[in-house]
Amino acid sequence: MKSKKMFVCSNCGYSSIKWYGKCPNCGEWGTFIEKEVDKKNRSVHKKYNPPVKIGEIEESEEYLKINKQIDNFLGKGLVKGGVYLIAGTPGVGKSTFLLQVSQLLSNNKYKVIYVSAEESLSQISLRAKRLSAKSVYSLSEHNIDSIIASIENENADVVVIDSIHTIFSEEIESIAGGIQQVRFCAEKLIETAKKNSMAIIIVAHVTKEGAIAGPKTLEHMVDTVMFLEGDKKTDLRILKLHKNRFGPSDESLILEMEHSGLNIIDDPTIKFLERKDASDGKIYGMVLEGRYPIVVEAQALCVPTPLAIPRRIAVGFSLNRLNMLLAVIEKKLNIPVYKYDVYFNIAGGVKVESTLLDMALVSSVISSINKKIIKNNVVAIGEFDLSGNIRIFQNSKKFIDKIEKLGFKILSPLNGIDTIHKLYKNL
Ligand SMILES: [Zn+2]
Repeated sequence: MKSKKMFVCSNCGYSSIKWYGKCPNCGEWGTFIEKEVDKKNRSVHKKYNPPVKIGEIEESEEYLKINKQIDNFLGKGLVKGGVYLIAGTPGVGKSTFLLQVSQLLSNNKYKVIYVSAEESLSQISLRAKRLSAKSVYSLSEHNIDSIIASIENENADVVVIDSIHTIFSEEIESIAGGIQQVRFCAEKLIETAKKNSMAIIIVAHVTKEGAIAGPKTLEHMVDTVMFLEGDKKTDLRILKLHKNRFGPSDESLILEMEHSGLNIIDDPTIKFLERKDASDGKIYGMVLEGRYPIVVEAQALCVPTPLAIPRRIAVGFSLNRLNMLLAVIEKKLNIPVYKYDVYFNIAGGVKVESTLLDMALVSSVISSINKKIIKNNVVAIGEFDLSGNIRIFQNSKKFIDKIEKLGFKILSPLNGIDTIHKLYKNL
């Protein structure tokens, strides 16, 4: 039997016939592992496998129901055999939310095991009491083989692993949380989920940069990836889908942290606002989170800079987009932003991606530079392109109507571009 040696990066999956100390693809150190590629085994995959007509495939997915809102968010519920990753910064409320989900599932007569490798059983029970999660089974264990033996023995329907960074396998030499451990343990859990038709929810932490800690391949391995975001200083959280093999991938749930746990907010449109007095550099904007329009406060602070390359900082918004919009302001609206350091922030700890926020950003920057106050009931909605044209999406109209009914004044391309340019001249 002929076999060939290959080296594979356990972080990103890059493979090479040569060994590297540092992966040329992702830059991680010490991630190359030797793999024997068996030529004889390879040919097994070449076996003839007849294609099946799509119409004749039976839908085999079965759903475990949580509650109406969370089921809709995920598609139709949790899929048996599905593996879900929920990521967020420590302390944002992942464990709280998942204990609540576990209790909802066990109310529906599913057997749920909450595996905590971060907290002791008494710590979990304290939290569980507060959340009235009494019928959830819990297990405090770090060893992946013990975990798998327990959940298989107990015939669990749903298993929560809190977290992937604190469990380990004795088969891998590196410490828990290391790239190879995370990858190996995730592979084992996925295998277990598929084999036993269990749904497994895996908790993952994120790095300072907001990426999921662990191997880059982790997101590709699981079926669904979601992020729980929010500022720990406020009570609001957004659960966002990032990838979903079983349903929509652009859904969001807006949650509010209360003593009894995280509650889903039915109408979050103005939940993120703190109505304070108007001041220069502030204006409201609108973003869409899943099916909801949400009004957020855009804040810009522009201060004359002594630097040749002025400072640009964006919190809750893309820095690249900020730079692009500043270039548009400079070139198309003839405002010398190069003379200013620009700090831009979305209040409330929300991260927004919507280009509908462009107009709020542009308005707040001009308002800050000219020290002119915009009334505190104005919501600016519109996307800028490089030539300074502003537009909105066709489907935004119904969201705009909704916001108008709440008493806001809308500033959008629907007012006419001339009106906007006139306004910018007067700002
Ligand atoms: Zn790599």
